[in-house]
Amino acid sequence: MTTTVQPPAPRAFHIMTKPIGPICNLDCKYCFYLEKEKLYPANGDLNAFKMPFDVLENYIRQYIEQQDIPEINFAWQGGEPTLLGLDFFKKVVELQHKYCPPHKKIHNAFQTNGILVDADWAKFFHQHQFLIGLSIDGPRELHDLYRVNKGGKPTFDLVMRGLNLLKEHNAEFNTLTVVHKELAYKPLEVYHFLKEIGSGYIQFIPLVERIGNAGAGGSGTGGTDAPLADPPRLKVLTPYAQVTPWSVEPMQFGTFLCAIFDEWVRHDVGRYFVQLFDVQLGIEMGLPSSLCVFAETCGKGLALEHNGDLYACDHFVYPNFQLGNLMNQTITEMVASPQQTQFGLDKHDTLPKHCLRCEVRRHCNGECPKHRFNLTLDGEPGLNYLCAGYKKFFSHMKPCMRMMADLLRRRRPAADIMPYLAEQDRRPTAPSNLIRPVTTMPNRNDPCPCGSGKKFKKCCAR
Ligand code: SF4
Ligand code: SF4
Repeated sequence: MTTTVQPPAPRAFHIMTKPIGPICNLDCKYCFYLEKEKLYPANGDLNAFKMPFDVLENYIRQYIEQQDIPEINFAWQGGEPTLLGLDFFKKVVELQHKYCPPHKKIHNAFQTNGILVDADWAKFFHQHQFLIGLSIDGPRELHDLYRVNKGGKPTFDLVMRGLNLLKEHNAEFNTLTVVHKELAYKPLEVYHFLKEIGSGYIQFIPLVERIGNAGAGGSGTGGTDAPLADPPRLKVLTPYAQVTPWSVEPMQFGTFLCAIFDEWVRHDVGRYFVQLFDVQLGIEMGLPSSLCVFAETCGKGLALEHNGDLYACDHFVYPNFQLGNLMNQTITEMVASPQQTQFGLDKHDTLPKHCLRCEVRRHCNGECPKHRFNLTLDGEPGLNYLCAGYKKFFSHMKPCMRMMADLLRRRRPAADIMPYLAEQDRRPTAPSNLIRPVTTMPNRNDPCPCGSGKKFKKCCAR
């Protein structure tokens, strides 16, 4: 199916900014961005990757001016942005003040591995209300499997030191955990660990990395990948490319999510936020997905390299997906360009029929195109590698999500589901293991647990 209507220029977009390009002080085995260094040959001069101040100023000015929304969200990432030093970010704040009109508010999100975070950084983050995204892959033995330094040494202790400084100085943080193959087998261990270290907002990113086929399907460096080759159009991605041994297995990813969901929905609703569950609850309530991967179309989350080059997406930093440079064109022109518009529409337009017919499509929408390299049962290309896992999880979460959405519609807290499930679990017939349909549904004629006063069959069951 091809969409022909061109949407108007966007009022808002999001840019992942890489002010030091792909340069990092770690050498995580699965990182897909380190090899982007080859896009900008610099003869080993790392200073060449530092965003010049004229580019920085131009970017900050445009990003504030060209978004017609009251709150402007900057996202600093890399590579490792702390390598730029604190003075660079003092300049960022200064420029944001210079260009921010009184009716707009600025937020900064800062993704870091935490290694260089010291008391000065922590105080700065607190003082300027930066939200820190700390990359940590669960407890020591899982984290250190792949998150190593340039000498191949483990980094867990250094990350925890940075985390403790953030806490000590009341800097706000959340966590980002890459779900690799081994980690996916320890869902509750990982979840409890993240809660114990005080992460109130937990993000999980599935690790899917193709071997031996350039570009768009991969989310990692992946040995034989050719990172600089232009990826083919999504429609013709080679099906059944192999993935690296550390990539998460599709069904195991589903099992991982189910296990954490079961724990969360019984004990932690309203206390701990898991990004994926939050987004899915929003979708259940009829809201558009706030996460591009589950949205019908994408293309509003771009990536900015250190020299001002703007790309279609963080996962599509390839020459073919470069939209231009903000020193020569406005950001809005590039975001609204036919090339970028088509990139976003392709997310929907390249869905295989299997997805169009899928009973959980509104929760999934084929997830991210970079993972769509499998064939459907009828031989159509473009099926998401993680399909089986997503199908399992989205079906599993459905009864509880429906119930929580209904509670919210009735202006009751979603957390009211917890006592109901506790009661269900006390019933002698309740299944005993956690990987199961998440709730024992009420009988059709029971009062609906959402509190509407109606029978279940006439309320949430519908
Ligand atoms: S390609 Fe994937 S990660 Fe990039 S914007 Fe689209 S859905 Fe999001
Ligand atoms: S669960 Fe599978 S079939 Fe359904 S929309 Fe997602 S990728 Fe497509």
